[in-house]
This record gives sequence, structure tokens and C-alpha cells, in this order.
Amino acid sequence: MKNNTSNKIIPTEKFEVMLPQKPDLKKSDALLVLDTNMLIYLCEPKYYDSWVFDTIFTNKRLNLVLAIPEVSVREWDLLLHKRYISFKDRILDPLESALLIQSYFRTSEEKIIFEDSINKLIKYRKREYQYTTGRKFRIIDELINYAGIIRPSVTETSKCLIADMALNKEEPFFCDTNPKAVKREKFEIDDAYIFFSTVELAKEVRESFPDLKIYFVSNNTKEFSKYSDSSQLHENLEPFFQKYNITFSNNLESVLSKLDPDNPREIRDEMEEVSVILHDDQFVTCEKCNGEVHIKLDGKWAFGQWYLTCYDCLNSWKFPYPCI
Ligand SMILES: [Zn+2]
Repeated sequence: MKNNTSNKIIPTEKFEVMLPQKPDLKKSDALLVLDTNMLIYLCEPKYYDSWVFDTIFTNKRLNLVLAIPEVSVREWDLLLHKRYISFKDRILDPLESALLIQSYFRTSEEKIIFEDSINKLIKYRKREYQYTTGRKFRIIDELINYAGIIRPSVTETSKCLIADMALNKEEPFFCDTNPKAVKREKFEIDDAYIFFSTVELAKEVRESFPDLKIYFVSNNTKEFSKYSDSSQLHENLEPFFQKYNITFSNNLESVLSKLDPDNPREIRDEMEEVSVILHDDQFVTCEKCNGEVHIKLDGKWAFGQWYLTCYDCLNSWKFPYPCI
């Protein structure tokens, strides 16, 4: 299996002490391979309750090893950027344009009060985003980029197999008449890569861990499933998963509940939490870039010390553990 680290961000010596743990299958309860859409859905409160994200990424109830196929990692980088742009377009830009209205005020006092209020709104909206959805994106991004996950890719043998499937228009990735889409033709090579990199990974893992539970989870109801039942793997794909005992699911909650039946499924009100932690006294300024750094949420323990990290410039420093 491959554990590529991205050269997008070069960790400083100080930052390295806080890198995520490398995946260790020996201590693991299960290997969870996630499709790209799962990563996006996990960050959005409307799709999954907070306990799902917490169980996978932040609490220690389960020892899960995560795998995200190389193709999905590439898609993730693009989506990450798009999501921030969409937040900026929807929330920040209208507020920034509201600042132009200040020219309508007659007195400088009125202007100052108005400008101050809008700037505060911008600041709090940014914080809201950064410490709810944005924070989840950051946790996943850190795992992906610092080898906290396995990043399987396809071998030449699988590439040939996928090419054959494409030539023969073999379902579910390729076909001439796709009953579930508006477009008649279907050519989902990325999904084929995601599927076969999961198979390749399981093949390798099974040599040392014959009894390990391996799940492939996707929210995609069209690309891997039977047309008649989206919860079931497509019949053409079944033999590959059966061979290495991989379980297909498009229901992440049910996978987690099977692995951990006693999970209390605690649901946090993220917006309420954020309103408590958004106060100015919870933030310090990064000396390197002047960005805002939260004294709790941007901190981590490493070797008995509390470290803060500025996620704008990756500057990291020791800080007294916040008691508030
Ligand atoms: Zn900084």
C-alpha cells in the first residue's frame, strides 16, 4: 500500500510534532475506504449528524484506519477550493458590498458605526465558517496530506481491466444506455479507479489481516450499485469484493453502529458551540501573518505541551493551555 505525502505544504520542524498518527492496521477495528463524496458530506451538517464525524475523525471510540483512493484525493483538492469560493460568494461578498452603502450616511459618526458593524459581521461569519464546516475540512485535509490515511491507487493490471470494461461498455461504470441518467452514454472512469484501488488495497491487506473488517462506503447511489437497489453492489462488481471480503455500503451510520453498537450518538449543536467560542477573548494573533488563531480549537497536545497552529501560514508555537 502507498502512503504518499503531498508536497503542497512543507511542515516546519515545530509542526511535525503534531502530525496525525500513521495508520496501523494491527490495532484497527476496521479499514474504511471512503469515496470522495463521503468526505464532502461528512463536513456538511445537513447530511450527517456530528456524532458520525466525531466517531470517524476526532474521538477514540473506534480504531478505524481510513483509506481514500488517490483519485478521490485529487478530487478532494478541487472540491475544497470550490467550497470556500462558494462560501465567499454566498456570505462574504454580499457583506463586503454592503460597505459601499456607507456613502449614503451624512455624518462621519454614522458611517463609522455602520462600517464597524459590517466589519464585525464579516469577522464573525468568517469565524462561523472556519470553526464549523471549515474546521472539518481542515481535519480531513490534514489527515490526507500528512499520511494519516492510506491512499491506494490502481496497478497496471487493474488499468488494463478497466480499459477492457470500457471497450466492452460494461456496467455499472460504462454503458450505452444508462437508465438512471439523462445522458445515454456512461463513462465513469474515476469511479472505476476508485473501485479497483479499493480491491487492490484489500488484496494486499488480506495477506497479513485475513479477519480484518473492510468496508467501502459511498453515498453515490448510481455508480456502484444495482439499478434495482442502490444499497446493493452491482452484480458485475460483486465477485471482486467477495474475493477479498469487502463490504459495500451507502449507509455510513449503519456501518458505524455495527462496529460500535454502544455508540451514544451524541449530537452536538455546532452553531450553539460556535457562538460560545467565537468571542474575541478566545483568539490570539499569529505573529507571522497576523491571522486569527483560536486558543482551543487551533491547539493540540504534543509531548506534554499545548501548541497552537495558525492554519493560514502553518506557524506553530507553545501556548499555556486555556482554562476558559
Ligand atoms: Zn499565521
